[in-house]
Amino acid sequence: MEEQKLPVRQGAHNCKWAAPTLFEPAPDWLDAEGKPWTCHRDAVPKHLETTEVCEGCPRWEPRDETGQVKPKA
Ligand code: SF4
Repeated sequence: MEEQKLPVRQGAHNCKWAAPTLFEPAPDWLDAEGKPWTCHRDAVPKHLETTEVCEGCPRWEPRDETGQVKPKA
């Protein structure tokens, strides 16, 4: 039986531009309860209330092998 790989499902958890809001500097991390992920794709980080937007985001990029959660500047 041939092994089949499941397609990579896009999400904040595996996008190189996303970081847990809890890891953001103060006072931004205070938003973590209602907006658990922060997108760093744009110049101004955006806190995400839901990750549904990530499922179809054309700017999603997989994280590198280091598992780095915040992109290098
Ligand atoms: S909005 Fe797009 S670029 Fe930002 S974290 Fe989600 S998938 Fe990544």
